Amino acid sequence: MDTDLVRVLGPKTAKVMADQLQLRTVRDLLRHYPRRYARRGEMARLDDLEVGDRVTVLAQVKSVSTRRMQQRRGTLTEVTVGDGAGSMRLVFFNNRHAHLDVGEWGLFAGTVGLWRGDKQFSHPDCHIMTGDDDDWARALVPIYPASKDVSSWVIQKSVKLLLDDRSSLEALLDDPIPQPVRDRHGLPSLATALVYKHRPESTAQVEFADERLKWDEALVLQCTLAARRRAAALEPGIERPRRRGGLLDAVDAALPFSLTEGQREVGEELAGELARVQPMNRLLQGEVGSGKTVVALRAMAQVVDAGGQAALLAPTEVLAAQHARSLTAILGPLARAGELDGDPAGTRVVLLTGSQKAAVRREARAAVADGSAGIVVGTHALLQEGVEFADLGLVVVDEQHRFGVEQRDALRAKGTRPPHVLVMTATPIPRTVAMTVYGDLETSTLRQLPAGRGGVSSSVVPVRDKPAWLDRAWARVREEVAAGRQAYVVCPRIGDLEDGGNGKAADDDGPDDADGAPPEEEEKGGSDRRPPLAVLDVAEGLRSGPLSALRVEVLHGRMPAEEKEARMRAFAAAEVDVLVATTVVEVGVDVPNATVMVVMDADRFGVSQLHQLRGRVARGRHAGLCLLVSEASSSSATGQRLAAVAGTTDGFELARLDLETRREGDVLGAAQSGRRSNVKLLSLLDDETLIAEARAEATALVEQGGGLADHPELAAAVAALAMDERADYLEKA
Ligand code: ADP
Ligand code: MG
Repeated sequence: MDTDLVRVLGPKTAKVMADQLQLRTVRDLLRHYPRRYARRGEMARLDDLEVGDRVTVLAQVKSVSTRRMQQRRGTLTEVTVGDGAGSMRLVFFNNRHAHLDVGEWGLFAGTVGLWRGDKQFSHPDCHIMTGDDDDWARALVPIYPASKDVSSWVIQKSVKLLLDDRSSLEALLDDPIPQPVRDRHGLPSLATALVYKHRPESTAQVEFADERLKWDEALVLQCTLAARRRAAALEPGIERPRRRGGLLDAVDAALPFSLTEGQREVGEELAGELARVQPMNRLLQGEVGSGKTVVALRAMAQVVDAGGQAALLAPTEVLAAQHARSLTAILGPLARAGELDGDPAGTRVVLLTGSQKAAVRREARAAVADGSAGIVVGTHALLQEGVEFADLGLVVVDEQHRFGVEQRDALRAKGTRPPHVLVMTATPIPRTVAMTVYGDLETSTLRQLPAGRGGVSSSVVPVRDKPAWLDRAWARVREEVAAGRQAYVVCPRIGDLEDGGNGKAADDDGPDDADGAPPEEEEKGGSDRRPPLAVLDVAEGLRSGPLSALRVEVLHGRMPAEEKEARMRAFAAAEVDVLVATTVVEVGVDVPNATVMVVMDADRFGVSQLHQLRGRVARGRHAGLCLLVSEASSSSATGQRLAAVAGTTDGFELARLDLETRREGDVLGAAQSGRRSNVKLLSLLDDETLIAEARAEATALVEQGGGLADHPELAAAVAALAMDERADYLEKA
């Protein structure tokens, strides 16, 4: 499998294959699967083709005629090809045709053009099947992803060379899927699958092959994750069992509400895992507003009671500050141990962020290092060197979608022994994604919202189609404010000082949120789109226009931290009516009195991001309203995406929609879309059952007997994935 293609195909072909398609070894070529299959009888469907489509057809030459052109110099050759179901004309100028003879079968690849009302190919690429290759007789001819100098048929011929000697193929190929696994799931051998995939005699064979080849991808991926889980499980942490009469009991007594059933159940689950030596690695997902923070606080309290420290990592400074504030508020005197009015049974809550003044930060660091701060809340600054914990027992990562595995690991490394880890996300994660991208974590879900929530209704405001609706939107904002409520206006960009308005939110609060970016194809042509609306401009327009009677303020990532905090506090205290902001308000910001959100240029945000955003106005007793303002017409794909967001509040349904609109590669990480990715056939949308089965098999393989060492071929494939620098696709999502 590792044989260089030079030895099989010769230097010339091997070089272009390597240069243009990154195919270097036998393995690369065999795993370069056909994109589709051309078949006879397809021509009937040519009627459905649009002018400009690029297609390949398998057909027989019916007639050839050459004549001088009248208007121009030179000759014109017309060839009619047919496949029994339909026919099509090919034209070539000046004998630039491939000497086609009547009766020959060939593949003809070209762009559909129009001439005097008839569809035709102008000088298509032709590949005539000669008598000594049997390809013309095949029902299905593989069409490969090709490049400028490596046509589909060159690839086909090269693959054929590899596959022809079937017996040596079986001997040559190390099958990574152990025989018992293959038997259990009715999968063919790798050699059979490759033959069926590259040279099928029926679509049934292709399907049979696909199933098996997807298993390769899923099993290797799941073994990698299972191995990671196992390695984590083998490295002991420190047990942090529950202790009565401490901080946790005090927290429970201080809560102004009773826990939902879900919070109680998940709480029990966490309490049990924290009490074990084996470090917890858990993902807690729950709708926006489902009350994850309280669950985390209770886990943190348990760890503090057991003598350890807990760190809460938040993606933005605004959110970190808010968490520190609300934790301090809930704990009251318990958060001020060591101070005059503090409760000696309590602990200290400290905030650590990048923009703090050096002196403040130094003091915070000291409290973290000497252990007097039991609860440490912070942003990425927590990950920096120089931040030392006395005894880090639990890491809570809030809103995971902005943190990668590397950051989780960086924090984990700050414990003398691996701390327990709890990752929280409000972006619902489809099961397949949970099993792959987050496959090294166990998951818990809070499905229930605390009772007494007003809920949120959403509408699209299509400003092109219905300009008057925008006036109506501002009228709604005025009405809500008149009724004592508050509003957010969210814009994609800050404005003014940014260079050029390139369409990216220049929000320096966190790393770029790959999750939130609109689907790729809509980014294209960005140059002829107007720049996205900006906070500073919109705020100005509202102040001097429809909201002139209201207190309108701005919030964005470029403001100094203290100013941001002060602004947020003023909004929370209802001293501001309307907050015009970037997505800094996306995560976790909690002002229950805010009931309206107007999202400007809503089409510039991703599905999950919009769902997150509107979660900000569904937090109180009052019904929330979210207005998605967009210039997209309601019939466009973008318009329909927005309508779908407006039409449901089911986070799981939206996560699925998000998955559909983003390319698979974006979900698994940027590198995944690269040329030699390990996941070519597997689909997170369609292969849920297969992924689940592969996960179960992988767990068993890794944990039973000698583990992967019993399965050298599989171990090699897993090692190759781990070695591959692109394996970081597991981390990047
Ligand atoms: P999220 O899961 O989005 O992080 P939060 O933890 O911020 O949600 O909780 C949202 C709001 O709900 C907060 O104001 C919190 O105090 C409140 N809350 C949490 N749990 C309950 C409960 N069991 N009953 C009532 N309100 C609750
Ligand atoms: Mg939250």
